[in-house]
Amino acid sequence: MTAIKNVSVIGSGVLGAQIAFVIAHAGFKVTAWDINDDAVEAAKGRFESIGNKMIADLENVTESSVATGRDNISLTTDLNAAVAEADLVIEAAPEKLELKREIWKKVGAVAPSHTIFCSNTSSFLGSEIADACGDASRFINTHFANRVWLYNIVEIMPNPETDRTYRDVVVEFFNEAKMEPVVMKKEQRAYLLNTMMVPFLQAAQYLYVNDVASVDQIDKDWRIAMGSDMGPFQIMDMIGLRSIVNVAEASKEEQPEWKKRFTEIAKQMIEEGRSGQGDGKGFYTYDSEGNILAQ
Ligand code: NAD
Repeated sequence: MTAIKNVSVIGSGVLGAQIAFVIAHAGFKVTAWDINDDAVEAAKGRFESIGNKMIADLENVTESSVATGRDNISLTTDLNAAVAEADLVIEAAPEKLELKREIWKKVGAVAPSHTIFCSNTSSFLGSEIADACGDASRFINTHFANRVWLYNIVEIMPNPETDRTYRDVVVEFFNEAKMEPVVMKKEQRAYLLNTMMVPFLQAAQYLYVNDVASVDQIDKDWRIAMGSDMGPFQIMDMIGLRSIVNVAEASKEEQPEWKKRFTEIAKQMIEEGRSGQGDGKGFYTYDSEGNILAQ
């Protein structure tokens, strides 16, 4: 039985809300924090929609288990209160290094001395953030895939200072939370999944920017040939274009013209309220359950 009872999730956006809800649904007490009342209201809506999707996608999830999961979550805008009793803190704040370091500095200053610190950062190494919390031995990256209840992988990436005991507690916890932990031996930027997926999505962006084929034709090609239920643009809509842009802008390498062009297009779409499934619109238009209505 894991020593983890109380979990705090810092940032209740696209991924944070999913992480919070799935852990709460597995029976743990979760405190979900976000920056202001509007963000907390948005999180409530996300929990509602995640619960409905879990019922639709998973046979063993019922109205009653979703209601119990919801009751296990409390929401707050008070960071001190959010982590005061946490055994484990999972941070899912926007993908900006200085912002994450700022948050970890605050969390590390107020969390109990036994608390384990996890970051869901997509593009930063733990060793770039860990010292901010004040004890890198308790800090470990835990990276989830979008639609956490369905694609329930969690990539566990220790930094060179992570204590193996804390790593093992985290692995045990996620097993109990009905997730599938994958333990990495060492730090690798973009983990396992994104090391494989980012070049795939960029290949689709390259084809689109160079007008080789339309969005729906590129997606159709991938879906049918690979027996996959989603093409690359459906995947980008699901991830959300903000994260796609943030990952592109976090790269320190000189970007080729087609990558710059795609980032401009994605930013324009975000400005127009077409950031992906979260907006109900992206490369495709969606109904409230995430089904495609039109391109
Ligand atoms: P998001 O923008 O949907 O959510 C971020 C949340 O953090 C928002 O609710 C926002 O209100 C809150 N927040 C906290 N402090 C803030 C501040 N100072 N300024 C603005 N907002 C603040 O982002 P997301 O997609 O949930 O991504 C969160 C983290 O998870 C990122 O590190 C991202 O790389 C990672 N991640 C995302 C995905 C994905 O598919 N979206 C997958 C794996 C990992």
